[in-house]
Amino acid sequence: MPNDLKITNVETVLLRVPLRQRTITDSQSKVDDVEFLQVRIHTDAGVTGYGMNWSYTTGLRAAQVMIDENYISVIKNENPLFRKEIVRKMFFTNHFVGRVGAARVGIAAVEFALWDIACKLAGMPLWKYLGACRDKVKAYSTDGGWLTWSADELIHDATGLVDRGFDAVKIKLGRPDPREDYQRIAAVRKAVGPNINIMTDVNCAWSLATARYWGAKLADHDIYWLEEPMMPEDVKSHAQLAAAIRVPIAVGETIYTKQAFRDYIETGACAIVQADATKLLGIGEWLEVAALANAYTLPIVPHTNVQQKLHVQLAAATPHAIMVENCYESINEIWEEPIYVKNGYYNLPEQPGVGLRLRDAVIAEHRIG
Ligand SMILES: [Mg+2]
Repeated sequence: MPNDLKITNVETVLLRVPLRQRTITDSQSKVDDVEFLQVRIHTDAGVTGYGMNWSYTTGLRAAQVMIDENYISVIKNENPLFRKEIVRKMFFTNHFVGRVGAARVGIAAVEFALWDIACKLAGMPLWKYLGACRDKVKAYSTDGGWLTWSADELIHDATGLVDRGFDAVKIKLGRPDPREDYQRIAAVRKAVGPNINIMTDVNCAWSLATARYWGAKLADHDIYWLEEPMMPEDVKSHAQLAAAIRVPIAVGETIYTKQAFRDYIETGACAIVQADATKLLGIGEWLEVAALANAYTLPIVPHTNVQQKLHVQLAAATPHAIMVENCYESINEIWEEPIYVKNGYYNLPEQPGVGLRLRDAVIAEHRIG
């Protein structure tokens, strides 16, 4: 392995990819397309690292600007194997204007590309490079539980997913009248029977009072977890809720720092840690959060909408990562060498690297910046 490896060039590309499925809906969003930011890091050894970040809201251009105007100047000519030092330098180029959000999303995209280079030099996929603990990863599905689906559609999709081999499905909550949420969960439970896990996800729409009352009632239907009941910044209310109801609380997809996870975990405010490497400072900080969760005997279920290949590999190298979400299946083919769920489990990639390279044809067709 060359010790004097150097980064010679960094490129960013922004694209917006339409979904090939019905509009996806939750309590905050209606999604017809997804933005992607692809980062390519070239080296003088001829190895190219690919990283990316994504958003189902608009605005990823801000992260591209962060990379192009702030980070590239501190990356160029560095040794890509000094990943942690490069991340530290990127963070402090613009920390007065963006410690989280677009700034962190941009840093994570670069960080993945640096891991990609290290894995390729080692000739291993990420999960083996990290040290594997399993060779397939359990999946649960969210693609049948969107908020505007009728109860009949929920039942149709949930039973269809069970027929495909899933034994865990997630249903979105947060309708204006929580009674409807409750009735929809009751209908799905009746349809799938007692042996299928049902998760629920509010996408931060509830007040503490609503969460205490309706979250407690979800236990009637043996709910596996209640996800993001309230705004993620309000750790205190989550701690109060967790103390008041039996249904386990899951959080993580909108938590950007390990310190915020520490506060949730130390106060007992969550039972399931859904850390997302694309919101944290990349794989490095994700591994730190995973270790923290493990110290408190909490399972990790990495959040994912489109970054399955990244999170599935992390889960294959993390003993207490019990499963990974599956959704947005209609755009699996945007990736080079996509992975799939079969009989309720993801396969794992064998190609060296992190596996976040978008197909050139997809970039050519959907590039917006
Ligand atoms: Mg969610």
